Formats: sequence, C-alpha cells, structure tokens
Amino acid sequence: MPRLSEVVFALENLWPAERAEAWDAVGTVVGDPYQEVTRVLFAVDPVRETVDEAVKLGADLLVTHHPLYLRGTTTVAASHFKGRLVHTLIKNDIALHVAHTNADTADPGVSDALAGALDLRILGPLVPDTSDPDGRRGLGRICELDHPVTAREFAARAAERLPATTQGIRLAGDPEALVRRVAVSGGSGDSLFDHLLPAGVDAFLTADLRHHPASEFIAGTHRPLALLDAAHWATEWPWCQLAAAQLDEISDRHGWDLRVHVSTAVTDPWTAHAASPDSTAGAPN
Ligand SMILES: [Zn+2]
Repeated sequence: MPRLSEVVFALENLWPAERAEAWDAVGTVVGDPYQEVTRVLFAVDPVRETVDEAVKLGADLLVTHHPLYLRGTTTVAASHFKGRLVHTLIKNDIALHVAHTNADTADPGVSDALAGALDLRILGPLVPDTSDPDGRRGLGRICELDHPVTAREFAARAAERLPATTQGIRLAGDPEALVRRVAVSGGSGDSLFDHLLPAGVDAFLTADLRHHPASEFIAGTHRPLALLDAAHWATEWPWCQLAAAQLDEISDRHGWDLRVHVSTAVTDPWTAHAASPDSTAGAPN
C-alpha cells in the first residue's frame, strides 16, 4: 500500500508543479505524507459535493483540477465553506491534491481529454510550450474531424458527448459554415483567440466566453470561424477520466492496487436554463 508521498510523487511526475502558471496554486493542500492511500477520487472542483463523495467512498485522496485556495488564506475556520472543507477532509483522513494549469499544458492534458471526448484527431497544441522540445505540450489543441460538418452539427456533437449541463453549447458565428479543423481548450479559453486564425481552424470550442470578446472576434475575422461555448465544468470533466486512467496504470505498474474513481457529482454552478420561446424574434419594438 503506497504512502501519500509516493502517490504524490507519481502525480507530480505527470504534472510537474513548475509547469503551472506563476499565479496558480497547485500541489498538496491537505494531507500527511506518511498516510497510506488505497482509494483515490478525481474531480474538477474542491466543493462540498465532491468532498462528501470522497467521504462516502472512503477515499484517502481527492485530486481536483481547481485549487481550493488560489489567492492564499489566513484562516481555515469552519465558519467559511472552504475552511469547512479542510475540516471535513482532515477529520476523514482525506488528502487533497491539485493539478491545475500544470495539467492544462501536460501531454496528455486537459484539452487532450476534451478532444478525446469529442472523438477528434489531435494535431498538436494551439499554443506550444516553448520548453518542450517535442512540441507536444502547451495550451489548447488543434484537431481535425474525419469529415467536415456544419458548425451547428459540431455543436450538437459536443452537447451529446460532453457531460450534460443546463447550459448545453452556445454557438457564435454562422451555424451553417463547414467545420473540419477545430481548436479546443478546456476551461476559460478566450485568452487564446489570437492564436486561432494563424492555426487555420474553422471553429473553437471552449468555455466562459463573454459578449465583447466573442462579438468583436467574430466581427474581426476575414473568414468564418465559429465559437462554441460549453459549461466550464463540462470541458474539464473528461480530464478526470484521463487522469484516473493514468493513475490506474501507474498503480498497476507499482503493484499498488489503488482503487481509482471519477466523481459523478455535477459541480457546474448553473442549475436551470430558460430558453427564449422564439430566439429569432429579436428585441421588442
Ligand atoms: Zn477550470
């Protein structure tokens, strides 16, 4: 049975902390390096639902994509929900480890898992990590579909293949434009817009797109390029499955016999969606 320090060493090998962005907070948040680990749960968010799930499962380690504390803290008092999570984790002997932007840029990483969920052929990173001599690590992925589909059909495929959310998929640009080469980026991807035209893609699937950046981007492109906006959580959840499979393989290799699980809790914060009765009707006169 491995100790937490051994499992964390393996996780750090997959997603080295030094490859995280300077503003990020990755690594072990809660946990005793000497504690033994038999059961691991992967989740996108360190929130009550996933911590409760870890307790119910009898997990010894919860690995999340999002940090619990991104900006630091001076208290873990249980009067705040984050402090409450720390208390629940410690009382139940559950460690918490975070792999965030170091998992985004990894090979394979968050966007590989997203592309895999959509059955896309991956060509390479959208923004290569210049420190990778093989040119495989980096942000986002440029991918290809087997045959062209309309942007509307591509959005329908994403809605069908990604975990269900109330948001579904929003599309900006011409829904009937043909799409063959696409870029994907798990999480908030609007900082990658400048890389889309040079990459020659017909569509970009990401999350958290906003009015001004999206409308200005669509207006400013000289050829059709569709933007697809999914729920942030849904674009990153496929990584949990990928990461769980990676740890399973490591466990087999070391004879650790770990039980590795993926969270089934939907931690997308949006809980309902009221569609306009007729979205083509426009503004009232
Ligand atoms: Zn995220």
